[in-house]
Amino acid sequence: MDLVKFKARSKAKRAPLTEFLAKFDIVVPPDMDAIASKANEEVWKEIDCTTCANCCKTMSPTFSPKDIKRIAAHLQMKPNEFKEKYLYKEEETGDWMNKQQPCQFLENNMCTIYDVRPDDCAGFPHHHLKPFDMYNDMYRDNLKHCPATLLLVEKVKAAVERKWDMNG
Ligand code: SF4
Ligand code: SF4
Repeated sequence: MDLVKFKARSKAKRAPLTEFLAKFDIVVPPDMDAIASKANEEVWKEIDCTTCANCCKTMSPTFSPKDIKRIAAHLQMKPNEFKEKYLYKEEETGDWMNKQQPCQFLENNMCTIYDVRPDDCAGFPHHHLKPFDMYNDMYRDNLKHCPATLLLVEKVKAAVERKWDMNG
């Protein structure tokens, strides 16, 4: 994954894709989830996360209390010690987030705590969440971080616009 090219592509495409996503606040195709699932299948034929890791480099996962307990145990640390060393509590949400970016557990584009990583990391980029249009804001925010999300929204846009054209 060429992240320099991705950044340029993301910058150029973000405005039209954000505008497209906003349309789902007004009208949603009845087969929206089927369109998104098909597009998502195609995305993963083109994207290999092991060559990217941009989420781990530019974002923080949310660490739930269960994540903290599990990861601290794996590292033979007490949960409080783990929190003090690596995390801070976000004022607005009360969520535990990484102090550091890129993530301290990223080495050579690989997660060194993969088997016990936060659930948020395991589910990212959350393309499976339904209904698709309930997560417009998440997709919009992730357009600048995740090449898979950028491609997903491009594919969904192309499919939906084809359909809208066909229906006049
Ligand atoms: S989820 Fe997105 S940002 Fe993270 S590694 Fe995969 S393509 Fe890159
Ligand atoms: S815990 Fe692992 S998967 Fe999650 S952000 Fe850090 S390096 Fe990436």
